Amino acid sequence: MPAKKRKFKTEVQQLLDLVVHSLYTNRDIFLRELISNASDAIDRARFEALSNPDVLEDDPEWKVRISVDRDARTLVVSDNGIGMAPDEIDETIGTIASSGTRRFLEELQKNEGNLSPELIGQFGVGFYSSFMVADKVTVLTRRAGTDKSAGVKWESAGTGNYTVEECVKETRGTDVVLHLKEGMDEYLEEWRIRKIVKTYSDFVEHPIVLAKEGGKEGGKEGEEAAEEVLNSQKAIWTRSRGDVTEDEYNEFYKHLSHDFLDPLEAIHWRMEGVTEFSALLFLPRKAMSDLLAPDARRHGIHLYVRKVFITDNAEALTPRWLRFLQGVVESADLPLNISRETLQDNRLIQVIRNNLVKKVLDTLSDMKEKHRAKYEDFWREFGRVLKEGIHFDLANRDKLKELVLFESSKTEAGGLVSLAEYVERMPDTQNAIYYITGENRQAVENSPHLEAFRGRDLEVLFLTDPIDEWVVQGLPDYRDKPLKDIARGQIDLPKDDDPAEPPPEDGDFKPLLEAVKKILGDSVREVRLSRRLTESACCLVSDEHDLGVQMEKILKAFQRELPPSKRILELNPNHPAVGAMRDLAVRDPEHPTLREYAELLYDQARLTVGLPIDDPLRFSRRISALMAACVKTAESTPDTEA
Ligand code: ADP
Repeated sequence: MPAKKRKFKTEVQQLLDLVVHSLYTNRDIFLRELISNASDAIDRARFEALSNPDVLEDDPEWKVRISVDRDARTLVVSDNGIGMAPDEIDETIGTIASSGTRRFLEELQKNEGNLSPELIGQFGVGFYSSFMVADKVTVLTRRAGTDKSAGVKWESAGTGNYTVEECVKETRGTDVVLHLKEGMDEYLEEWRIRKIVKTYSDFVEHPIVLAKEGGKEGGKEGEEAAEEVLNSQKAIWTRSRGDVTEDEYNEFYKHLSHDFLDPLEAIHWRMEGVTEFSALLFLPRKAMSDLLAPDARRHGIHLYVRKVFITDNAEALTPRWLRFLQGVVESADLPLNISRETLQDNRLIQVIRNNLVKKVLDTLSDMKEKHRAKYEDFWREFGRVLKEGIHFDLANRDKLKELVLFESSKTEAGGLVSLAEYVERMPDTQNAIYYITGENRQAVENSPHLEAFRGRDLEVLFLTDPIDEWVVQGLPDYRDKPLKDIARGQIDLPKDDDPAEPPPEDGDFKPLLEAVKKILGDSVREVRLSRRLTESACCLVSDEHDLGVQMEKILKAFQRELPPSKRILELNPNHPAVGAMRDLAVRDPEHPTLREYAELLYDQARLTVGLPIDDPLRFSRRISALMAACVKTAESTPDTEA
């Protein structure tokens, strides 16, 4: 079959251009990427060989082999792993599979194509990093367990196209041949390769061998192929915590997660006793972009049973609200034939899972107490995922309550307060934890609902994450203090010493309240005087058991059909406009101006909570008419101060 020429997808080409033209801060990492891919491929083959020994062919010794050819100026990374079938290669190499790479591209788009070299250096581009050092890359591969004629040769110079053709490949697995660019001869030096492998891939559990040049094919007859093992292969998670350096943790994390930032925290322990296992978990620094997508994300825990890799998608090992965790768990007590499907039902897995959750929560709690800034960094990235646990995981709710942080009316923008801190600093007379929900800080900070609280120096939590609406459902109280939405129901403010402002009595306002209710009809449930307003004329509140405004917006965004929700319109009896309306209503409850104003107030109240109004045109016409009337009054009133 002749070679078929194909074009890279646009995003791949965009990536390749960057790789080739941008200054990577650290070129050496290309080797780590290729070794990491090779080692993953071996893991997969070894797992498949458990049920299908044919995969082994007659080559049972797993290894990654690096060889150089000075004359041809090539560096080859080979593995005897799973390989790729002809119909797979377009889906893997040639598209963007790695999540690190996808994040890189998103970042690039955000910055309209401009990324500083430091930023570029932080992201991984997996296989494509080969093009940092090579001007042509050839991949020879064959799926394990297929015939030697089922090989494929993929080749590209990284400029627009690649070719794919069938070939004969004697051994299973993949050879990646890098035709080094001018000036990259350092990667032909053994000492260089040795050093890079030691730095980045020492813990890889398969041997990474360097083939001595003399021992390569075409070497002197009778000469044994000599190979030098470059890595210590000691599975890092089986060592004790004190023996592993931070650099080793960092490199292992990157190898495992394909992330390009160091982890925020490594959690490493061994459980002994009835249940035995080793675990090394990592909290990443940055959230992957698909963290919030309903099903997009793979779980990042790799499960090993007696050194054999079982799966890197061990969902059963962690609850969904810890899906950002990366790491390895190994246990000798699990059966080797355990599969992704049977994991769920295994009792031991459940025990391990409970232990993992406990350990992670304890670590976070400790971090929150002792390294607050670091914890806040974590919270900003993953807090919204952790909050899902409050809603869904009854067993861990109490611990999670201690971990949540919110902004509040007493924090600077971006500042965070815990529920414990909130309760500790609230006055003795306060008997509820107040919160307000909204789209962002600015929206809630300026909300009329907040006025009376601000006036009394009462702290109000700002719940501005869409998920917060669900979180509060799972958080009815904290340390016996109920959580209270200040835009909902009646507000029972703590009695203060200042009796200057008696609670409003309906008295004189009765005709006004009745008239406004009659005018607005079914669009409101009730019209009443407010205890929460000090500056604004009016606001909308929800009844205790109604859908909140924020929740309504969220559900609407998901195109959910909702019954029309009726809210309560509250009027501020101390506002001059409301006072004037009261007088008018006493004189003539049918006065046409009353209708104008009632509708204006209602529209205003909707706008301040971010709800749309029925007739924006009429609204703005009325405002303009009012302005014109004011100007006229101002003109005809003599300036008393002059
Ligand atoms: P990542 O490794 O982060 O998924 P890469 O761009 O490095 O991204 O690789 C893309 C895909 O190509 C891999 O997910 C894998 O399916 C395939 N691949 C790469 N190298 C090998 C290899 N040596 N053996 C088998 N498959 C490979």
